[in-house]
Amino acid sequence: MNTVDLTVIGGGPCGLFASFYAGLRGMSVRIIDSLPELGGQLTALYPEKYVYDMPGFPKVLAKDLARQMIEQGTQFQPELVLDETASSLSQVDGHYVITTASGKELPTRTIIIAAGAGAFSPTKIGIPREEELLGKGIYYGVKEKSVFAGKKLAIVGGGDSAFDWALNLLDTASEISLIHRRDVFKAHDESVEQVKNSAVEMKIWYAVKELHGDDVLTGVTLENTQTKETEHFACDAVIVNIGFKSNLGPIKDWGLEIEKNQVKVDEKYETNLPGIFAVGDVCAFPEKLKLIATGVGEAATAVCFAKTRLDPAAKLFPGHSSDRDS
Ligand SMILES: Cc1cc2nc3c(=O)[nH]c(=O)nc-3n(C[C@H](O)[C@H](O)[C@H](O)COP(=O)(O)OP(=O)(O)OC[C@H]3O[C@@H](n4cnc5c(N)ncnc54)[C@H](O)[C@@H]3O)c2cc1C
Repeated sequence: MNTVDLTVIGGGPCGLFASFYAGLRGMSVRIIDSLPELGGQLTALYPEKYVYDMPGFPKVLAKDLARQMIEQGTQFQPELVLDETASSLSQVDGHYVITTASGKELPTRTIIIAAGAGAFSPTKIGIPREEELLGKGIYYGVKEKSVFAGKKLAIVGGGDSAFDWALNLLDTASEISLIHRRDVFKAHDESVEQVKNSAVEMKIWYAVKELHGDDVLTGVTLENTQTKETEHFACDAVIVNIGFKSNLGPIKDWGLEIEKNQVKVDEKYETNLPGIFAVGDVCAFPEKLKLIATGVGEAATAVCFAKTRLDPAAKLFPGHSSDRDS
């Protein structure tokens, strides 16, 4: 892999703004995220909630804000390394090498850690054979809708992701059942109403207890969470949408100063390791506010200091973006 000027760990709002700003300053950028999609918490945790404290947006849905931030953050064509967790860090010939959990070695001159509360990973149901049938009937998200074409599909969950995918895959899957362990949903009321009025079958008060099939999934055992009665439910695929866990995990072992699960930074947002910066929810300094509006400012500042570290002749002040030709 080529050595980039800056690697941004985390494709949430602060990482995306760092990527944009570094592109503006002529730096080559790579973004690593453990999720297959960019957007961080906006996309993973609360896509259907309105955000009211973004400059220029009196009110914006988190998923729409994420879409705009992704467009801005990728406009200078950063290299995207998605579905990969940054696991270890080493130093070779004056630059850093980040190794991902799958073994990719990614060399870089500087790093901005914008890892939020840590690498997101989907919450699993926690039943036997879940790992074994991963990709063979068990899924934790939708990368390609075509995977579910003509399939009898069960979607597990009661939040926005479960309801959004139930509606979104109606034109793709042959049948869809939404399975939820109780009759209260975290999803937006509108989505719940839409699903109730659609062809989606609602299986309320059920939990998936067993997975069946030899090489591929052919069905599941459902347990009624009230009566404890079980039944066989034939299906070709199960999408598990029951949330995400986050784990700062590997980054804690990189020799960075950590304070309460956050990375300590100075006034340049630089960590105790030279050329490694931390911004957004993951960074710690006195009176830190975990907000997007403040985190993106940290990102812009960190990029400018990273630029001057790469090129000591470069000015810290980036100039005004409105002075650019296009
Ligand atoms: C329900 C809810 C509502 C909110 N509402 C608001 C609001 O109205 N206004 C506001 O300002 N803020 C709000 N926030 C907070 C806001 O979402 C966060 O402050 C913001 O997302 C932080 O952005 P970030 O880029 O620092 O991190 P995140 O958005 O957390 O993104 C971090 C990304 O880094 C990735 N990552 C972490 N570690 C690794 C690794 N080792 N390798 C690869 N990838 C990694 C993660 O997978 C994740 O995608 C809300 C939060 C929640 C939960």
